[in-house]
Amino acid sequence: MGAIAVKLRVDDITAEARDLFFVEPEQEINRMLDRGPMREYDLREPIRVKVSYYRAGTEVFLTGEVNASAAASCARCAEEFIAASRRQFRYVMAPKAVGYDKQADLCADDLEFSLYEGENIDLTPLVREQVLLALADRPLCREECKGLCPHCGSNLNESDCGCSSEEHDPRLAVLRTLKVGRR
Ligand SMILES: [Zn+2]
Ligand SMILES: [Zn+2]
Repeated sequence: MGAIAVKLRVDDITAEARDLFFVEPEQEINRMLDRGPMREYDLREPIRVKVSYYRAGTEVFLTGEVNASAAASCARCAEEFIAASRRQFRYVMAPKAVGYDKQADLCADDLEFSLYEGENIDLTPLVREQVLLALADRPLCREECKGLCPHCGSNLNESDCGCSSEEHDPRLAVLRTLKVGRR
């Protein structure tokens, strides 16, 4: 555990699946987030990773899950909150030396294809990729976040500011047309 890179020695991987749990440090992923379009995320603890792996010939199959916890600003109300993200992955990895250039014929829809070089498979790039994918959605403090009032800017989750919400309430608009229809 800790800052040691997690590598699997290909020769040690058997046809029987084995499970591995480890934590991936968050610092480098935070640096990647800072450079990219997802600057609003900031990981606050190491990534928890669960992976099951086995080998068939020279191909290594990995299935697992990453769990990340990041601070983010809500896209609607701008409040800071902790986003817990989880993502499952499936990979098949083939040796670079054999010359697998075409990926398409090998790949099922939800199976990602990657190459390994040499005797070891380094899980770090895979974990980083999955964490970035796990965070790709617009951060929302909660699904039903009401956001900010377009008139006065107050946080509608905390209080009803009393701005002319009647005009904008679609339910009331429907009621009005019903009344009109009855006349
Ligand atoms: Zn929000
Ligand atoms: Zn308002």
